[in-house]
Amino acid sequence: MKTHGVKTHGVNKRVGILALQGDFEAHAQALARAGAEPVLVRTAAGMETVDGLIIPGGESTTMLKLLELMDLKEALRRFAARRPVFGTCAGAILLAAEVRNPAQECFALLDLTVERNAYGRQIASSIAQLEPAAAFEQRAGAGTLEAVFIRAPIIRRTGPEVHVLAEYKGNPVLVEQGRHVVATFHPELTQDSRVHELFLAKISPETI
Ligand code: GLN
Repeated sequence: MKTHGVKTHGVNKRVGILALQGDFEAHAQALARAGAEPVLVRTAAGMETVDGLIIPGGESTTMLKLLELMDLKEALRRFAARRPVFGTCAGAILLAAEVRNPAQECFALLDLTVERNAYGRQIASSIAQLEPAAAFEQRAGAGTLEAVFIRAPIIRRTGPEVHVLAEYKGNPVLVEQGRHVVATFHPELTQDSRVHELFLAKISPETI
């Protein structure tokens, strides 16, 4: 364990963003806005140097192939066994326990069933104003949350250990299970840092 003490939000936390494919740069900027130190991660050795990890949006099948190619699957499993991981959109698909449309390998960090591209091709992208759950507002701050959906998956099932922090049209879109977080939208594409801050608050001396 490193010697630094408990911190609120991002201050001095080194947070990795898996930078194989997708919108990792936008997450780096969002982490910096939230006060953390962003680190682009492309190797197992790089993963070892960070306190938390974001799997960004992009294309989940491609990301899975690149994880295989770069020999990062086992490193990700080892990392997630102790430290917090936050998956957005394609990242959410990778962290689920079951993927449909079509079925695909996933890491089961949260007990979720997700359906890919579930909003359909014509209305694949949209921006919604969400009213987050009280559990989100108490920890991250009150107010409407702007959610950018881009060919997003829908969470079709949540296991008993999953807490829903925001919903859109009756489906969960921001959830947590223990130290891990999933968003089916892209919080890195707005100026609102609360979702990143909620994730950063999960990085504690116990998880470092
Ligand atoms: N549709 C993509 C997939 O299934 C995810 C889209 C995104 O990450 N914006 O992998």
